Amino acid sequence: LRFGIGGFVANGPEGVVIEAEGDRDRIDDFLAAMGNELPPLARIDSLIQSTAPAANPPPCATGETGRHGAIARTAPCPAPGDPTAIIPVFRIAATAPGAAAGAAIPADTAICQACLRELFDPSDRRYLHPFIACCDCGPRFTMTRHLPYDRDSTSMADFPLCPACECEYAEPDSRRFHAEPVACHDCGPRLSQSPVSVAAALAAGQIVAIKGIGGYHLACDARDHQAVARLRARKHRDGKPFALMVLNAACASRYVELTGEARLAIASRERPVVVLPRRTDNRDLSPELSPGLGSLGLLLPYTGVHYLLFHALLGCPPAEAWLTESNPLALVMTSANLSGDPLIADPADAASRLAGIADVILHHDREIARRADDSVVQVSGGVRTIIRRARGYTPHAIPLAANGPAVLALGAHLKTTVAMTCGDLAYLSAHVGDLDSPAAVALHAQTAQDLESMLQVSPDRLACDWSRDFASTRLAEGISEQRNLPLVRVQHHQAHAAAVLAEHGWERPALAIVLDGHGQGDAGESWGGELLRLDGAKFQRLGHFAPLPLPGGDRAAREPWRMAAGVLQQLGRGAEISRRFAHQPLAPALAQLLATGDAGVTTAAGRLFDAAAGLLGVIERATYEGEPPMRLEALTDKPLSLADGFHLRQGVLAFTGLLARLADCDDPALGASWLHGTLLDALVAWATDAASRTGIDTVALGGGCFLNAHLARELPARLERMGLRALTARALPPNDGAISLGQAWVAQRSVL
Ligand SMILES: [Zn+2]
Ligand SMILES: [Zn+2]
Ligand SMILES: [Zn+2]
Repeated sequence: LRFGIGGFVANGPEGVVIEAEGDRDRIDDFLAAMGNELPPLARIDSLIQSTAPAANPPPCATGETGRHGAIARTAPCPAPGDPTAIIPVFRIAATAPGAAAGAAIPADTAICQACLRELFDPSDRRYLHPFIACCDCGPRFTMTRHLPYDRDSTSMADFPLCPACECEYAEPDSRRFHAEPVACHDCGPRLSQSPVSVAAALAAGQIVAIKGIGGYHLACDARDHQAVARLRARKHRDGKPFALMVLNAACASRYVELTGEARLAIASRERPVVVLPRRTDNRDLSPELSPGLGSLGLLLPYTGVHYLLFHALLGCPPAEAWLTESNPLALVMTSANLSGDPLIADPADAASRLAGIADVILHHDREIARRADDSVVQVSGGVRTIIRRARGYTPHAIPLAANGPAVLALGAHLKTTVAMTCGDLAYLSAHVGDLDSPAAVALHAQTAQDLESMLQVSPDRLACDWSRDFASTRLAEGISEQRNLPLVRVQHHQAHAAAVLAEHGWERPALAIVLDGHGQGDAGESWGGELLRLDGAKFQRLGHFAPLPLPGGDRAAREPWRMAAGVLQQLGRGAEISRRFAHQPLAPALAQLLATGDAGVTTAAGRLFDAAAGLLGVIERATYEGEPPMRLEALTDKPLSLADGFHLRQGVLAFTGLLARLADCDDPALGASWLHGTLLDALVAWATDAASRTGIDTVALGGGCFLNAHLARELPARLERMGLRALTARALPPNDGAISLGQAWVAQRSVL
């Protein structure tokens, strides 16, 4: 309108298509303005310009010009203008068939500053409206039922616009022009009870379930030790840390060390949970929040409902100052799911399954069309690493270096995601979770189907893990058979490495250090501390950690004392097992099993951490995956290396010296520092040795162990100092959440 341009904008197969018709100079001005004045959620990756072939008649005579239309005026409402006036019409056209679908569904975004101001402005018509949103903020992905992304295909279709909202929706100058989640007190969704009464329940120490945008949360006062302990007991969640919601950065600074990059991350529009070092000088919070860890996961409010709860908890202060002032309020805000099951998103489900957990349930009547957990990131050494990629990031595509066949990749077993490639873009589902329960397996299958229908692409091939007993593998085999599609099976740690190469667009051969839990090797062995050479779809195992006994298979992964016992046996000290673990009833039997040499072995780096935790007496049984290494990380102030801690022979990295020292170490903090320091030295030696043997100077770092802050911070820097290029996971987590992308990348490059 400002540049007097007619035409249209639409989603097409190439992306967003704008046909602009008008005076040449004005079009140039328009293009410049478009680059300079993008709305907050818009981003231009590339812009292709072409000129319409025909010599056009004057811009305001034909084509996309017309009589006064509802969309083309700038008056506050479609006021009847001069019916004879001929003005250019610029319209939003219907989405073209085959439109680049991923681009058409945006990600969920935290409430913007303008909406937040309106929310607490008594003169605004949306004063205290829980579902306030605009073009710059609000739910998107989680409310989209199907494509194209317009109001009728979202769960907002159940809320016909009132005249006032309709007016803003149709008004180009409005912040709510074509904002699909637009709503108000008159026409929008409603809460089942007032935030004031819910806040009173929280203040009284009760546990509250809150329906959000991607699922339900469970909340309680994080300073109320009994409430937190009760929540932990009712949720049967032994030691896994709970995330906290605080009102603003000033409040966060009371409880955690909030600096630089972390400050940006916590306030970003994706509003992830940010894991940060816990301040030791503040004892207001319940110690039950993250037992044994030196960190806390914090997030800021991201919906109107969250802000209304804090407002009510603070006694409904007037004006805006309270929004930025510091206060001690902190709420546990943890995903409402029963252990092992996916996030609860349906009200009936919430009512029946949370009945024994929540004292109060705050529902609303907008359907959650797609589930999305809170995303989780950590900031270490100024670098942001994603731990769980979901709300706020999904369904943004990961750009790939090259086009390839469309691949549907089904992931592994833990922290599973599904990936689909489409040309040179890869789309990952939100975090589905561990495929341990029938509900999770069903959600996984549904997620694969949803991704396909969202992108409107049928896969040319499928990809899965080597392991035959993963539910994800069985799903891939089922689809492959049903639809007669080729299935590419990808080694687990190759997929980890490939995921890192994929996000960096690295197409040349590369080395990879993958430090991870179990993944199946080529003869069914348990791998997980691997040095690989990747070249397209092919990989070669150049080296691995020296195998450690794995007494009891899966159970050894949950019980570090078993790994410790295995190490003692390997060190020729099997006689100590029964005495050291006298309180473990199975210790004598385990010692016997180890003595016969019948226990399996593993090269998984995760088990090295477990063994260390067991030897140091830090933890004998893990209550959640990753707990032993997280505890060791928390104990380590500064990594210290042991000169004789490791030896490297023909690619095999053995930690005999280190483990022997840990077995005799009675200072867990010192032992944990030795573990980290020695591991760092060993990994640098490993990589430089392989680089000199292969002539490859690029090393991808992947696998769940790279969530360890000491490794994540120091290893890339040390490799760079040795003249190597280190590629690390940035857009995706280093853990199994990225496996699906790695599988897809390998499958794209496989010759069938
Ligand atoms: Zn807004
Ligand atoms: Zn309304
Ligand atoms: Zn893995």
